[in-house]
Amino acid sequence: MEALDAIEREVDGAFAPVRDEHELRATHARFLGKEGSLTLIMRRMPELAPAEKKTFGQAVNRVKTAVESASEAAEVRVKQAALARELDREPTDVTMPGRRPRVGRQHPLHRVLYDVTDIFVSMGFDVAEGPESDWETNNFERLGFPADHPALDMQDTFFLHNEGRPGPRALLRTHTSTVQIRELLSHPPPVMIVAPGTVFRCDDDATHSPMFAQIEGLVVDEGISLAHLRGTLATFAQRLFGKDVTTRMRGSYFPFTEPSVELDASCSLCGGRDPHCRLCKGSGWLEVAGAGMVDPVVLSNCGIDPEKYTGFAFGLGIDRLAMIRYQVPSIELLYSNDERFLRSL
Ligand SMILES: [Zn+2]
Repeated sequence: MEALDAIEREVDGAFAPVRDEHELRATHARFLGKEGSLTLIMRRMPELAPAEKKTFGQAVNRVKTAVESASEAAEVRVKQAALARELDREPTDVTMPGRRPRVGRQHPLHRVLYDVTDIFVSMGFDVAEGPESDWETNNFERLGFPADHPALDMQDTFFLHNEGRPGPRALLRTHTSTVQIRELLSHPPPVMIVAPGTVFRCDDDATHSPMFAQIEGLVVDEGISLAHLRGTLATFAQRLFGKDVTTRMRGSYFPFTEPSVELDASCSLCGGRDPHCRLCKGSGWLEVAGAGMVDPVVLSNCGIDPEKYTGFAFGLGIDRLAMIRYQVPSIELLYSNDERFLRSL
């Protein structure tokens, strides 16, 4: 009992100088560790007579509680001191500017797609949309593609499994012209629509991507002529590239228009004055659209009288327009999602 009393008197003095966690653990062990003074005394319990055990046990518990509470108090003190030291070392500067959250923005392709759509809507066009997978008939036959047209080849078109069912095959549309067919089948003229959307082809190189965006336009009414087409596309080019841009039409061929034309815009970068221009390669012209008068066969295929109605159609590649607008040399940059490039536009 005397030894116990001696230990109890030591406790407070032992924990008082403790300054860190290491010292705290060592001091705690001095009393209650494997070789601690209190532990050693408790091991001698069996030597006592049963009557003495109770008194001794109570005394041991009293001293043990004193050790634990002194230890806990020291621990709180040590932790507060550590926190104070940390705050001293790295003072909080409440005037420091906050971290600005990073805000996303439209991809350049979407920006061009929306701007282009806006221009046509301002001219009175409606926006029409259709499914990205469609019937082969809407994608080719009704548009007057001959059965041996190379675009029908498996290499150019992603056909979807038909699971042995008879009837037309389904595919991923190779152009947004499918929307024109759907519009002509469902609405009597006058029709005046643009159809923006994603299209798919088995193509993958520096200037082609297997998935790309198009916007097509279709106007069908009485008395529509090539002059309307020319005026529409010239106005469009000036709105998108600037009012100094001039346009020219060249003869071309598409299965569903007759006659067919390509529309070029004068180079918005050099204006045709730089023989080494990286945008127009010195030609002074940029291909902007494929277009033409809707082939009467297409109108007949959709139940519209080609003797009464005429129309024009055009198609614009959104990637192509984005490459011209932002002077991007490779289509890959537009699809590889390199943030450094996208932020530079
Ligand atoms: Zn140029």
